[in-house]
Amino acid sequence: MSKNALEIVGENLEKEKLIHWLEAEGGERQELFRQAAKIKLANVGNKVYFRGLIEMSNICSKNCFYCGIRKANTNVERYSLTDEQVLEAAKLAYNNKYGSLVIQSGEIASEKFTARIEKLLQQIKKETGNGLGITLSCGEQSDETYIRWFEAGAHRYLLRIEASEKVLYKKLHPNDGNHFFQYRLDCLKSLQNIGYQVGTGVMIGLPFQTTANLAGDLLFMKNFDIDMVGMGPYILHHQTPLWEEREKVFSEKKRFDLTLKMIALLRIMMPDINIAATTAMQTLDKAGREKAIMAGANVIMPNITPGCYRDNYILYENKPCTNENPEDCFTCLEARIELTGHKIGLGEWGDPKHFFNRL
Ligand code: SAH
Ligand code: SF4
Repeated sequence: MSKNALEIVGENLEKEKLIHWLEAEGGERQELFRQAAKIKLANVGNKVYFRGLIEMSNICSKNCFYCGIRKANTNVERYSLTDEQVLEAAKLAYNNKYGSLVIQSGEIASEKFTARIEKLLQQIKKETGNGLGITLSCGEQSDETYIRWFEAGAHRYLLRIEASEKVLYKKLHPNDGNHFFQYRLDCLKSLQNIGYQVGTGVMIGLPFQTTANLAGDLLFMKNFDIDMVGMGPYILHHQTPLWEEREKVFSEKKRFDLTLKMIALLRIMMPDINIAATTAMQTLDKAGREKAIMAGANVIMPNITPGCYRDNYILYENKPCTNENPEDCFTCLEARIELTGHKIGLGEWGDPKHFFNRL
């Protein structure tokens, strides 16, 4: 590879260059991963942080065209964990030295839901002696709700923009007065203003999506100055409207490879953020999370939802480990991470360095 091409890698990559690297093959592709691994090691080291993922409820008021638990999918058996089950899972994370938790759910905007999360946050903080960092991923909410949850102890929030280009976003969501690109952006801005460590992300390999869109997504995340990212390949679900567009979707291999390249490029562009190796990557490749770590990711979200409910939180098909219990999951992951030459940040919150540098 020529010296000139090498110089393409830098923090201020332009759109054309990003497209070039997203389409890189052979030696150039290897070089991209090599550079990303080097930058990761120099900036965030070889530690991988765990966030125990609690899928609290699959009840959702939204109808995103890609998602298996969308409101209109009547084939889904809806559930909501009890407070005791959430607290139990939180304690399990704490006792296994996971350091942090993510509470994720379908989107519900009601006083009852807001108050319930608020109370759970306070209880988790109290019962673990403020031992766990807590991330919420409960969709679009009012500023007032975000503030209440922040004050109750959540200090990170994940809200994927899904697709940062408005025209593409509109193709993925119904025009029903309940899905607005601008509102999602406003929510991200509010979360940042309130003081959360803010995470966003996109799906990769969606129908209608081009590499130019993906390059735009990378620039969006850089310009938004995000602290964390969760990006994953788009995975089909036959009970969703987007299934109709399945012919327009790249092969699984290509979607997986594009996701690895997105991770590597974002690591190069934003060396001190936290990047998750997502479950969707593991769905397309058994060693998907390990490959993501090698490409630049430094966070893993082991599922700690009680086993019996996991079968009902199916955002996409072939989701892995739905029948495993959390203890098995931990042992399996520990071994897998060691094989990549990384260490687990046991008991550490693992906050993104970028957040403190940004402040
Ligand atoms: N309801 C919340 C959080 C749960 S959904 C929200 O939407 O923000 C969490 C993520 O799952 C979404 O942000 C989306 O990016 C991802 N997801 C949904 N359906 C998917 C699919 N078919 N393939 C890959 N990821 C999907
Ligand atoms: Fe609901 Fe989130 Fe799925 Fe959209 S992506 S339907 S908001 S759970």
